[in-house]
Amino acid sequence: MSAEALDAFFRRLPKTDIHCHLDGSLRPATVLELARRYKVKMPADNLEDLTPHVQVAATCRSLKEFLDVFYLLYPLLRYAEAIERIAYELIEDCAAENIRHVEVRLAPELQATEKLSSDQVISAVLKGLKKGLEDFGTTSSVIICLFRAHGPKENRRAFSSLRKFFKADSILEEPAVVGLDLAGDEAKYPTIEFSSFYEEAKKLGLYTTCHAGETVGTANLTAALELSVMRIGHGIHLMEDPKLLAEVVRRRVPLEIGLTSNMRTKSIPESQTHPARAFHRAGVAITLNTDDRGILGIDLTHEYAFAHKLGFTADELAAISLGSVDHLFMPSAQRAKLRRRFEAEISDMSAKSPK
Ligand SMILES: [Zn+2]
Repeated sequence: MSAEALDAFFRRLPKTDIHCHLDGSLRPATVLELARRYKVKMPADNLEDLTPHVQVAATCRSLKEFLDVFYLLYPLLRYAEAIERIAYELIEDCAAENIRHVEVRLAPELQATEKLSSDQVISAVLKGLKKGLEDFGTTSSVIICLFRAHGPKENRRAFSSLRKFFKADSILEEPAVVGLDLAGDEAKYPTIEFSSFYEEAKKLGLYTTCHAGETVGTANLTAALELSVMRIGHGIHLMEDPKLLAEVVRRRVPLEIGLTSNMRTKSIPESQTHPARAFHRAGVAITLNTDDRGILGIDLTHEYAFAHKLGFTADELAAISLGSVDHLFMPSAQRAKLRRRFEAEISDMSAKSPK
């Protein structure tokens, strides 16, 4: 089967994106327009010259170079109207490649200002997602990230917003805030320091995930499992500890994998292949996600094609896509409803499935 046919197959496949950062999902053209509107200085004033500054190329040398892009974007993310637009465009981009449900995450305190509270940031996101649902039909929900470098005061504010907006009973009808994540430098700020938030989330019945084992070792993976997180962001260092790996398989904790993201941030050394295939063989539930589609200049179809290059067959990838529905942060009746839709679409495609 040709690369074009595979691309068409993966584009048509119903998909979910459960690890998708709003601040990493801006279109370069939108960055340019917003910079002009809000008079934010950018390294270039035309799309061609600006794009290399707001997208990280394969030649990216380090995580620092990757994170520098975010510093450039943040001044644009502090206006309610801009936030709403970005959320709306993300839904449009998802719908264009048949992503049926996307869980969008953000650290509201990184976007909040004296004039714009965390609550207002979240309201703007929800407004954009709702408009997107109405126009393009892709459902969505929001995961709130605490930020590792933030102090307890900021993280408490973000957590309070999460509590205030949490509403998981009718996600397929209206986007809402559903869960908790922890993002940022995991080497400098270990997960264990944020345990109390996760304990509280568990008591409140919030859905939980956590970036862990993305850039360093397994200590944060151990902590995440001790805190009973429902999913793990990346977790690529899991291979270093067979006991921990067995535990993840036994408890069916899925990994939110971002293949291109892991390669570009150099979380996987250039000399090595991504462990996604090894995880799958070991029985770990994996999901494929964009992480930062705008900054990486990718879409989810690209990630499925990437996985195919790692050795996954089209049928295996269709099964992974279907399996990811079971890990969505929503009540089981809604997951079942979505699963039935996926099954119907996939069975319709299976006759034409490339091998
Ligand atoms: Zn992430």
